Amino acid sequence: MKTKTITRIIASQKVNMGGIILDQPLPTQGVDQVDPFLLIHHWDDTMPGNQHQRDVGVGPHPHRGFSPVTFVFEGNVEHNDSLGNRATVHAGGTQWMHAGLGITHSERPSASMAQSGGNLEFIQFWVNSPAAHKMDPAYYLPLSDKDTPRITTKGAHVAVVAGEYQGIKGPAPTLSPMTLLRGEIQSGSSLMLELPDTFNTLIYLLDGKGVVNEREAKAKDLIHLSQDGNTVSLQALENTRFIVLSGEPIDEEVTSYGPFVMNTQTEIMEALRDAQSGKMGILIEEFESTSDL
Ligand code: MN
Repeated sequence: MKTKTITRIIASQKVNMGGIILDQPLPTQGVDQVDPFLLIHHWDDTMPGNQHQRDVGVGPHPHRGFSPVTFVFEGNVEHNDSLGNRATVHAGGTQWMHAGLGITHSERPSASMAQSGGNLEFIQFWVNSPAAHKMDPAYYLPLSDKDTPRITTKGAHVAVVAGEYQGIKGPAPTLSPMTLLRGEIQSGSSLMLELPDTFNTLIYLLDGKGVVNEREAKAKDLIHLSQDGNTVSLQALENTRFIVLSGEPIDEEVTSYGPFVMNTQTEIMEALRDAQSGKMGILIEEFESTSDL
């Protein structure tokens, strides 16, 4: 057992996504990706009520070549897609998707949440797909809190979403070896995480404050750990929620444009053409009719 060295601690940047300010720890200045992880968005916002569902969240858009994954922490996210999948995932759950050769989906708070308002907190991260799987059929899986096995220790818990952790297998199928976790540590408690030394590892703190190995990290910091060891110690100085994204590097050329992540510029041009010609599916959303709107 050897401790992983911290490569760097990256403070999130605020980004404006269509008028909503969210925290983006990746990509950031000087770091395009931490292979196979391409992007992390942390959304934490209070929604006003009395809105129609069609006016909240993100409407139909296509993806190809990677997996957009959403961990829901508060409120809910409803997914509708061009394959006919429709599911709402609540706090503790995960919206899991391999975009593969193409899918069109929408991501919105539920109609009842649009009506009632409330706090909405989720993290969406993008996991690259290996070239061999970029053109697989699209795949979608909603996971609830109950679907996600949890390891509880004194003052802490870790939920295993994907990969294997301490002999527990996560329910989400991955296209390359990785371990994806979400957890909480109470102030004063600590955890020793064990992750393969072949994996690139990221730990993101949603809130609180902690000490990772010997270094202090604050809310919305992303800790990038190197492949030189297999343990990370995580001590909470305040109640802290965190996620762990740890995966074997794919080590292939990455060319991305908007919602497409491919290997070459030619493949991006094909993706644009295929999306425009409807080859990534069509989604016509159906909303509940409301008499007052
Ligand atoms: Mn999307």
